[in-house]
Amino acid sequence: MPGIAENLKAVRAQMDTAERKSGRNPDSVHLLAVSKTWPAEAVREAYTAGQRDFGENYVQEGVEKVVALTELPDLVWHFIGPLQSNKTRLVAEHFHWVHSIDRLKIAQRLAEQRDAQLPPLNVCLQVNVSGEASKSGVAPEDLLALARGVVALPRLHLRGLMCIPEPSEDEHLLASRFRLLVELRDQLQRELDVPLGTLSMGMSADMAQAIAAGSTLVRVGTAIFGGRPAKPAS
Ligand SMILES: *Cc1c(COP(=O)(O)O)cnc(C)c1O
Repeated sequence: MPGIAENLKAVRAQMDTAERKSGRNPDSVHLLAVSKTWPAEAVREAYTAGQRDFGENYVQEGVEKVVALTELPDLVWHFIGPLQSNKTRLVAEHFHWVHSIDRLKIAQRLAEQRDAQLPPLNVCLQVNVSGEASKSGVAPEDLLALARGVVALPRLHLRGLMCIPEPSEDEHLLASRFRLLVELRDQLQRELDVPLGTLSMGMSADMAQAIAAGSTLVRVGTAIFGGRPAKPAS
């Protein structure tokens, strides 16, 4: 079975191919390795292979890994899962990025709880691009109001948008979901007059389509670490 280092190489090669095919510059897409359910040792192995950005979905599990790996310089931790208001403090204290903001209340708590000594917490707003087929993410019609609220908060830096389209074999449907996020980002950028450089979209199964549509960051778990056990490891 290929190891993590080989998988990373293969994923980077796929990203390269997708960038070239869609006429984008090489290295214009950032790779986030989604290490949820995998032990700190797996993160260390990916780190040794040159990977620096890691994504976690579960607060407790993520914080344990952040703390276990503090001796590795330049690690960048992204929280990408659903976030409840009673868990915001741990995320504000331990992560560099949060991709899954879909309510102002969560952003307000993160802003209050982010230590002023730390750099601002980078945040993306998660948008529901799938309508009734999905429950998470802010509805496109509520995005502008949420973004205005977030931009006004201290200690947060609004970087862009994130989406998780419903799983689909239909390439055209997927492409239209990704294009919607790009359009919403473009509109929002004009309305707010702030740069929103991050489009967090694409996972193991759909990263090529996401890159073709304009993704700047793909979140890849399975293709790097392998299939996950059914339940999160505790
Ligand atoms: C698990 C997860 C990923 C990675 O999914 P894979 O299919 O394993 O690549 C990406 N983004 C989010 C929000 C996730 O929860």
